Amino acid sequence: MPELPEVETTRRGLIAHVQGRRIAAVRVYDPRLRWPVPADLARRARGRTIDRVDRRSKYLLFRLGEDTLLVHLGMTGSLRAFTTAPPRRPHDHVDIVLDSGATLRYHDPRRFGAMLWVPGTGETHPLLAKLGPEPFDPAFDADYMWSRTRRRGAAIKLALMDNHLVVGVGNIYANEALFRAGIRPTTPAQRLSRARLGRLVQTVRETLTDAIAKGGSTLRDYVDSDGEPGYFQLDYFVYGREDEPCRVCGAPIRMKRLGGRATSWCPCCQR
Ligand SMILES: [Zn+2]
Repeated sequence: MPELPEVETTRRGLIAHVQGRRIAAVRVYDPRLRWPVPADLARRARGRTIDRVDRRSKYLLFRLGEDTLLVHLGMTGSLRAFTTAPPRRPHDHVDIVLDSGATLRYHDPRRFGAMLWVPGTGETHPLLAKLGPEPFDPAFDADYMWSRTRRRGAAIKLALMDNHLVVGVGNIYANEALFRAGIRPTTPAQRLSRARLGRLVQTVRETLTDAIAKGGSTLRDYVDSDGEPGYFQLDYFVYGREDEPCRVCGAPIRMKRLGGRATSWCPCCQR
């Protein structure tokens, strides 16, 4: 599943191709994504200029003058820019053709992604309105985490993956950030001190920064938005390493399901 680093990598890869370009045509081959692609999308978008591409959580926000085209990659979606579009493959659902002749192509085998027209900036849109701060937002700090977890008896890992608390920390990065912070994933959030939560804020940022630098990390065959193969394998400390020796102390990494998601930790390094 594309996580925040993949979405940010996509955004950065696309900017050079789309920013300042006018939309010449939108071709919707199959509107059946998680929600139907609006029937009037082509009519609304045609002639608009893409001023900017922003990201909020895992949503890509194409700013088209007063309005916004919102794109989510779902489980298996990808958005790539082609100078000259190759013939369509199966699961290529939408083409956005730009005045440069380039084509922005949305591909999604499982069709859990989304492409929606949002009036204005979308801040009050139901998908965006209740999201917590971005992990790189200065508002996400030790005091914020401390005050927001005092009545949370649930495991810190579940809190970290809750989009109302902070966005964009998916399963892999929650596991890795908790290892780097020396915090056991099952620890009740309310038991953590301000200092340890401050350390966790830091390691969340470090983990995501490393992944963005490597171009994302979840899809093995992920190809970035320029069409170049990405370099995605982070050297994970714990994720996917059950029974393998901890890279720091050598103890076997443990694994269990927490909230249905694979959760790995080192029994010695994480308390
Ligand atoms: Zn260890």
